[in-house]
Amino acid sequence: MKPHMDNRNPTRSVQIGSMAIGAPHPIAVQSMTATPTQDIDATVDQIRQLQAAGANIVRIAVDSMRDVESLAAIRDLTTATLSVDLQENYRLAEHVAPHVDKMRYNPGHLHHHEPGKPWQDKVRYLADTAAKFDCALRVGINCGSLDPRAQRQHAPDDGLQTMLQSALEHCEFLDHIRFTRYCVSLKDSDPQKVLEANRRFAAERPDVPLHLGVTEAGMPPEGIINTRLAIQPLLLAGIGDTLRVSLTVPNDQKWQEIKAGRAIVRDVKAGRPHQADPLHLAPLNIISCPSCSRVQNGAFVELAQRVREMTQYARDFPITIAVMGCRVNGPGETDDADLGLWCGPNFVNLKRGPETLGSFPYDAVLERLKEELDVLIAERFDT
Ligand code: SF4
Repeated sequence: MKPHMDNRNPTRSVQIGSMAIGAPHPIAVQSMTATPTQDIDATVDQIRQLQAAGANIVRIAVDSMRDVESLAAIRDLTTATLSVDLQENYRLAEHVAPHVDKMRYNPGHLHHHEPGKPWQDKVRYLADTAAKFDCALRVGINCGSLDPRAQRQHAPDDGLQTMLQSALEHCEFLDHIRFTRYCVSLKDSDPQKVLEANRRFAAERPDVPLHLGVTEAGMPPEGIINTRLAIQPLLLAGIGDTLRVSLTVPNDQKWQEIKAGRAIVRDVKAGRPHQADPLHLAPLNIISCPSCSRVQNGAFVELAQRVREMTQYARDFPITIAVMGCRVNGPGETDDADLGLWCGPNFVNLKRGPETLGSFPYDAVLERLKEELDVLIAERFDT
């Protein structure tokens, strides 16, 4: 059978350290460390495990100058191609860039610091810093933290259009200032939205390399099925230059993300995409973030697993429960779920849609969640 993926969109080459993404290059598979960045040994160890599994790029979260100091030490201890996740504190870029090959910024987080400053000035600073230190950029749009300025221009439930607008205007601005060493990602926890957002973006900007992924895809095997549902059709249509399978797994299992990503690329390339049949997914939808160094309580992954076990009795009800590791995407992502939990250092915040029901200790929140789930089932379904 003729191999697939020879119909790739004509995306431009973007150099990231010693490797490159884009149409002329193989599809790169990446992951992100979930260890505390300041735990240098644990982070380097996790990077090595990811590399051994075949990771082309490893991303690290950096939120403070102490994280930056650790990043410098990590850089000296690994040959991996490193990317960094800048969140609210975009000004860390000038400290981070000397140590990495790529920086990801989220347009939805630029307003947090220096709110009166135009976003264009902030992006110009990021592009100038990236150029100065020989780095690539990723414009990383996430459904859980959309740009409030773009949100105001669309209906509250039209997140897809908000994501697209954000991505397209950032591309246009980067092109305008002649910085073209960037890629884009448009992530949502709903595979169908990821599919649609990336299709539409690729139709408008077939030249811009795309990083594919379903955010908060969940625990395996559901997290892998969710990701395949979005990524396989995109790759088959020639869309996508790098990807991540985001899975909620314990730290010593993070390599599963790379294994799953490589399997998707291999199957699509061989023309045998795996049957990622949504019918294999229970109506009860548990989405959970893959965790990262921002998790403030290591009990998060175990909590997500316990939520899945406890809610098995409700698996036939079409209800979405979101379990999130911290406040970065926690409050936003849980807004759209029927029930949501997002973790703080000592307490778990429980929500029903956008309404906060309270904060509960880790060992008490499951009982409270069950009460709410029972109420929801009784209200919505004729039980
Ligand atoms: S929600 Fe927080 S802990 Fe989870 S992946 Fe996002 S930033 Fe990391």
